[in-house]
Order: sequence, then structure tokens, then C-alpha cells
Amino acid sequence: MSALPREVVLEDVPCPCGSDAGDRLVFVGRDRLHDLPGEFAVVQCLACELVRTNPRPTRETIGYYYPSSYRLHQAPAAPPVAPKPKRFGAARRIASKAIDFRTKPLPTTEPGHYYEVGCGNGGFLRVMQEKGWSVEGLEPGETGAEAARAQGLDVVCAQLESAPPPNQTPDLVAAWMVLEHLHDPLSGLERLRDWTRPGAYLAASVPNIDSLEFGAFQGAWYALQLPTHLFFYTPKTIGDLLHRAGWELERVFHHRNVTNLVTSVGYALEDHDLAPQLAHRLITYPSRATWQLLATYPIATVLAALGQTGRITVWARRR
Ligand SMILES: [Zn+2]
Repeated sequence: MSALPREVVLEDVPCPCGSDAGDRLVFVGRDRLHDLPGEFAVVQCLACELVRTNPRPTRETIGYYYPSSYRLHQAPAAPPVAPKPKRFGAARRIASKAIDFRTKPLPTTEPGHYYEVGCGNGGFLRVMQEKGWSVEGLEPGETGAEAARAQGLDVVCAQLESAPPPNQTPDLVAAWMVLEHLHDPLSGLERLRDWTRPGAYLAASVPNIDSLEFGAFQGAWYALQLPTHLFFYTPKTIGDLLHRAGWELERVFHHRNVTNLVTSVGYALEDHDLAPQLAHRLITYPSRATWQLLATYPIATVLAALGQTGRITVWARRR
């Protein structure tokens, strides 16, 4: 049992669906990303099936679990320069046409105003800018927001639940791996609804706890990332939450990517004190390594077709 650090305060919060039906305990886990102390219960609402970390660190004290090494808060080492020619360039181009690794699929619409919640250092804002969109972002981490602004991007440093409205009305709102981190995702999604026009798109990616990955690995599932992940969605529960906030779920994409799975095998080996060197290599497995993505692509494609990979992107329209 690993005691909770003194600077962390826990709060017990009901499910955002408002039911008093109670919860069932799913499992108890810990921080595996940074190995920080504390144990956290993950529970499921008996009424709406939404899974959440409860009790959870308060908004004021959860920063303890986002140490400065947290990947998305880091600024790029140097200003962006033209990419170096990559090895196997032609093979890569052919593969990228035939193979769908996308983790940020977007609805095909005419460029308009793009607003990204949790934009980090602005990498994807720049991608959208190059596609002809005007862009604007929100980033709670100061380092990331600062790095984005240093590139001339319009980025506000704030939490979604207390952020000022965007300068322009967005046609497309994106939240890549954000909704699982929010203390109040319902009010966050309601704010995004209030800032958009009917018919506007929302694209959001989240881990999918209703997957074979979670079923197989449980507490060793990489995407748990306790206690920074406060909610664990399924296609059904994210659809319900979106509906409650004024959005209609339109599509669910199961990512053809089993990066989580590789890392989870590492955690599982670690849990059983097996092959420590291999476990370490799997846990630190670089998620952008092309050959691993290619090698695992057939299994990822089958699992995605069955709706069983650990990450989804949803598209919703504002009502
Ligand atoms: Zn509920």
C-alpha cells in the first residue's frame, strides 16, 4: 500500500449523470507513468455505466501527478525547421496511402476556424494552419502554451472549465486525449457547445475502456494513467455525455494502433517480475517508431474492425 503524499487532497464526487444509484468498484491502481505514491479506486456508475477515478485528487492538488517530465508540457527543443529527408521516403509515402495510422481523423469540411482544447505546444494547430484553417488553442500547461505562442500561435493558457471564449466562433473543435483529464467534462463540453453554432463539429479522442486491451490487461493497461485520467469512456458513455452537453455523436473511429498494447505487455511483465530488461524496453517503447507500427498493423487492423483497440476518436455535431 503506497500512502498518499501530504500535498495531495482527495475529493469524492458523484457521477456527472446525477444518479444516486451508486457505483461498483472496478479495480484499484497507481501511477505507473512516473511511479508517484498513492492508490486510486476506479469505479463504475450503476446507472449510466460511466467509469471514473473516485475519490480523486482535487483540481488544486492534481498538479503533483503532472511532474515537469510530463511529455505534453514540454516545449520543443528548438524552433521548427524544414524536416530532414527521411530514410525509405518513397516506401513511407506508399505505406501512408495504403495504411491508416491516423489518430486524429477529421471530418472532411471546407477550412474554417479550428479551435483545439489542450493544444500542447501547438504542433497540430500548425498542421491545420497549413491546410488553410485559421487556428486558435487552449492549453492548461504554461510551458506548452508559451512554446505555442513563441511560434506566433493564438493560444490561451487556462483550464477549459474557466477559459475565456475563443476570439472567433469555431467551425471545428478538437480535444485530443483531453476529456479523460478533465475534472468536469460535462461542463467543459457544455462550454464548447455554447461557443459554437448548430452544426459545428467536435472531434475528440479518448482511451476506450470497453476494449480487449483493458479486458486483457486490467490494472496493467497503459492507457489508465492514474490518477491523471479521471474518466474512462466507452463509445456508449462518451455518446451519452456528449448528448447531455448538447452534442450528437456521429461517428466512432477505433484507432488502428496498438501502442497501448505493447506498453501494457511491459507493465504486465513488470507486475510478474518477468524479463525486467524486456519489460523496460516495452514500457519505454517509442510510440512513433514506424517499423513497430507497421509490424503491429495487421493485428491493430483486426482489433480496430472489431472495435477492440484501446483508443477511439469520436465526431459529434452541435445540436
Ligand atoms: Zn452515472
